[in-house]
Amino acid sequence: MKVLLTEDELSLARTYQRHLERGGHRVEVFTSAEVAYDRLAAAPDEFDILVLDVLLPGMSGIELTRKLRHEGYDIPILMLTALGQNADVVAGLDAGADDYLTKPFPVDVLLARLRALGRRPRAFDPVANATQIRAGDLVIDELQHVVYRGGEQITLTPREFTLLLYLARNANRVLTRDQLMLHVWPDGTEAASNVLDTYIHHLRDKLEVSGSAPMIQTIRGVGYSLRLPDGERAAGVPPPLTNGWS
Ligand code: CA
Repeated sequence: MKVLLTEDELSLARTYQRHLERGGHRVEVFTSAEVAYDRLAAAPDEFDILVLDVLLPGMSGIELTRKLRHEGYDIPILMLTALGQNADVVAGLDAGADDYLTKPFPVDVLLARLRALGRRPRAFDPVANATQIRAGDLVIDELQHVVYRGGEQITLTPREFTLLLYLARNANRVLTRDQLMLHVWPDGTEAASNVLDTYIHHLRDKLEVSGSAPMIQTIRGVGYSLRLPDGERAAGVPPPLTNGWS
């Protein structure tokens, strides 16, 4: 992948760069969000992912994320946040980032997150008319409103189905509580603070297979993520677009 890395601490940036290049990626380093934006705007097709520090001189990583999403760029964004800054994490994800890492992090985790985001479909194209989503051994049939795991049919309520479909379409992406609440309860009904956790709990009860890794992960203080086993991506949706924001 070609990585646009924005990190103002140069020694840190060089360390990430070295490890990413060793992992087979190509990397361009920028130390300010403004310059990174100019580079991306000049050649939007060139980069596969933006790795973005939150605390930058001038425009913050969160502001850049908001600007890019507002202007229609759908390049995957992995945010780098400081330890204990959960508010930054939530703000960044709400602004449109896909995932985050808390500094300091092991480099192999960075590489794994890049692989996972690279597998995530970049845009959902209704023209492709996909009616089934596959995520690991999970199959979600949108038309029939039916879910299977390992070939076994699972009965879900309409809300549970909506919640699962949203998580699966955004597999490997962290979704904040607000994003999930807005999507599943757009009219605000039932939207008590603990209702989301209750639905997640029910979904897990119905979906999880003993002995296999849990699909729906809790990101404490942030939200939830449906994680696919390494090497898999959600299918039944169009492949990532080379120019997703056209
Ligand atoms: Ca910084």
